[in-house]
Amino acid sequence: MVILVSNDDGVHSEGLRSLGESLRGLGEVFIIAPDRERSAVGHSLTLDMPLRVKQVEDHLFAVNGTPTDCIALGVLGILKSKPDLVVSGINMGQNLGDDITYSGTVSAAMEAALLRIPSFAVSLVANGDYRFDAAAEFSRHLAQIIMERPLPPYTLLNVNVPNLSRSDIKGVAITSLGRRHYSETVLEKIDPRGKSYYWIGGGDYKWESKEGTDIEAINRDLISVTPLHLDLTDYKLAEEMKRWSIDFNPTGI
Ligand code: MN
Repeated sequence: MVILVSNDDGVHSEGLRSLGESLRGLGEVFIIAPDRERSAVGHSLTLDMPLRVKQVEDHLFAVNGTPTDCIALGVLGILKSKPDLVVSGINMGQNLGDDITYSGTVSAAMEAALLRIPSFAVSLVANGDYRFDAAAEFSRHLAQIIMERPLPPYTLLNVNVPNLSRSDIKGVAITSLGRRHYSETVLEKIDPRGKSYYWIGGGDYKWESKEGTDIEAINRDLISVTPLHLDLTDYKLAEEMKRWSIDFNPTGI
């Protein structure tokens, strides 16, 4: 089995290394990751500059691009055969609820799903004193499960792991994405020349408390596993909108 591992924290991230090591026993593991931190780049693809691939070690490559670039290059270029599984992480910080839309970590797994490869993203809910062991062990366990029970097309899993020792983790919850309360998250400041500048996401924000969500599972010291589907179509609304008689006649007749 060929496993491709990537992340958005960059090729030197400790989380990436521990994920690669834990998966190594399951098959041949290739790591292809950004050459520097690219957190919150979302699903962006580099189209305005040439991409360079540098082999850092055996089975370990650094790319001067985004997590999505790494998966596309790995699957379509660097690897000789299509990987059986793509795992992205272990991200140093949570990727919960609405925030996944910004996440480079989750986007790497999304890119794999678009390329018809089973995938999951794994993030550690911490902002310091990172303990990767439980997240790495769980990733290996989940990889084995996915190999036995393939995910449907266009789907991936988003995993968040509490920053606890394995014995302190209470279990695993299958969850939905939580929702954020947006508040004043843009700060305006004045620079020394008297001009305004802005800082997005500087303040604290709160989550809607709703049972069954990823954020709620994490608050209960559970590992959260959220299945995601890449078809963002709202079929119910589409059916309703067909009855709205939306028309556009450029001649105005
Ligand atoms: Mn990151």
